[in-house]
Amino acid sequence: MSDAAIERESMEVDVLYVGAGPASLASAYHLVRQIEAHNKKAEQSGGDTIETPTILIIEKAAAVGDHQLSGAVVNPRAIAELMPDFVEQGFPTEHMCTHDMFYAFTRSMTIKSPIVPPMFKKRGYHVASVSNIVKWLAEKCEAVGIEIYPGFAAKEILTENGRVLGIRTGDMGVDKNGKPKGTFQPGMDILAKVTVLGEGVHGNCTKQLIADFGLEGLNPPTYETGIKEIWRVKPEKHQPGRVIHGSLYPDFFTQINGMWLYDMKDNLVSYGFVTPLNSSDPHNDPHMASQVFKTTPFMRDLLDGAELVRYGAKTVPSGGLYSQPKLYCDGAVLIGDSANFLNIMKLSGVHTGMKSGMLAAEAIVDALATGDFSTATLGGYMERYRASWLYQEHMEARNFTGSNDIAPIFGMAVNIPLMLITGGRGLIDPIKTHPDHEAMKKLWELAPEKRKKRQEIEFDGVLTFSKEHLVGFSGTQHEVDQPSHLVVADRDLCATTCREEYGNPCESFCPAAVYEMVDDSDKPGAKKLMIHHENCVHCKTCDIADPYQVITWTTPEGGEGPDYTLM
Ligand SMILES: Cc1cc2nc3c(=O)[nH]c(=O)nc-3n(C[C@H](O)[C@H](O)[C@H](O)COP(=O)(O)OP(=O)(O)OC[C@H]3O[C@@H](n4cnc5c(N)ncnc54)[C@H](O)[C@@H]3O)c2cc1C
Repeated sequence: MSDAAIERESMEVDVLYVGAGPASLASAYHLVRQIEAHNKKAEQSGGDTIETPTILIIEKAAAVGDHQLSGAVVNPRAIAELMPDFVEQGFPTEHMCTHDMFYAFTRSMTIKSPIVPPMFKKRGYHVASVSNIVKWLAEKCEAVGIEIYPGFAAKEILTENGRVLGIRTGDMGVDKNGKPKGTFQPGMDILAKVTVLGEGVHGNCTKQLIADFGLEGLNPPTYETGIKEIWRVKPEKHQPGRVIHGSLYPDFFTQINGMWLYDMKDNLVSYGFVTPLNSSDPHNDPHMASQVFKTTPFMRDLLDGAELVRYGAKTVPSGGLYSQPKLYCDGAVLIGDSANFLNIMKLSGVHTGMKSGMLAAEAIVDALATGDFSTATLGGYMERYRASWLYQEHMEARNFTGSNDIAPIFGMAVNIPLMLITGGRGLIDPIKTHPDHEAMKKLWELAPEKRKKRQEIEFDGVLTFSKEHLVGFSGTQHEVDQPSHLVVADRDLCATTCREEYGNPCESFCPAAVYEMVDDSDKPGAKKLMIHHENCVHCKTCDIADPYQVITWTTPEGGEGPDYTLM
């Protein structure tokens, strides 16, 4: 059925948030509180009050929190500004960080650093599950009248004459050939005076908005893929209050990497491993890297007798200040990871995302007060950002990714220490970075022993596991009979050019075994691409790392995807 032939319902709200992450929820809550403050002042001074706006948050997950994955050790600065009594109000802290540590690991040794680098000092921070944080924040939002619709995926931005009008949600009940099934439900148009994109990392609407409105930052966005596992360890191995960060050497010298370990409640530990996507190696495999790390003596000892509880993966926006797009256009603003607000130097994005949302909310109050939702008023968001601690924090981290991009050894031994004493400047400012996929080398550019895909370790099924096995611990569910939400523009390219030039890197970089080159029964000796979209954990790695940029991550039916309870 052609799109034009579909009759769609539409609804209108004043403020629409896309994505129920910490950035959107903090923003919406702050918006309500700021309107109250505005009206109180107006009543006292005889000024104009703002009519209570309709505020709607839509979320693609079946329930708020289900698509949330983070470390997470959380700087309380933003939540304390949003809700000074957040502890009394039941903020879901697992433990407070009481001892932070930094380790250098090799495959056979564990070396505890006598000093903790400043970016890894986390004492007084809250170890938490971001999934639980957003569930808690969502309750607070609903209590002040904000509507939240889970199971609604924004498929595209609606625009008219250079202004954002709102979004269209995806159609439901379409079969794999694009034909409506008995359960067909057309997507609806949600129109708003202002649309706030809080989609998190590499959002599909955000991508469209930045491209259509020319909002690109100085540098392109860059990313890393984080693999997270939660394990239940033996009680004697559990150390509440412990926060460990570290890196694996000598791997680090060719490609920067990082791990974390945070103790949660009930003998659970959050373990994660982060791998950049600007690798020259076409076989760069974040899942494999995280499994290899678990074979270090430290992890073997920690996980001896432990039980795997959950698995997931998500990309992390690493570009920081110089990758931040223009934050606003007529009718829309960008907040949180959608606008690269994560501070990669500290692997901290919860408090920065929340603060960005709060600053955007203050500009929206001005827009509601004046009835002007154009850049003239929404641009006040940028001014507020520039005057805030959030901007200062980003200035200090602004050349972190660029430094490591030049070479990890240059970054760690020279430029990052210099950045720490020059307020983020370092030797070169700004350092230009490149889209991640451009770094990938063709097979013939590699040393012969590196051309073949390597199975670095055999998975033992106790400590280390295959992607297929681990996806079972992500709670992921997608209807199989629907068009794949992973749209590959040219599948012939996969079977021919990509196979020859890069050896099909999608089989390596995807942490959920979505992409598989299988025998092509129509062409003896040839391979064809099989997409297991039902495995997709919504990490977006494929859309970022594909060297030809022919893979586009789009939203599946609302309510599908991983179940990241506890993550
Ligand atoms: C591996 C990893 C480890 C991390 N560790 C830490 C840490 O220890 N401390 C810390 O402070 N930060 C950490 N972060 C960063 C932090 O989690 C993020 O910066 C933060 O969650 C960003 O918040 P957000 O609201 O911008 O986006 P998100 O939390 O990503 O929320 C976006 C929401 O939007 C929804 N959505 C997306 N697209 C659509 C759509 N089209 N329609 C409807 N809904 C949509 C998503 O399902 C999601 O629920 C980590 C991140 C990762 C990936």
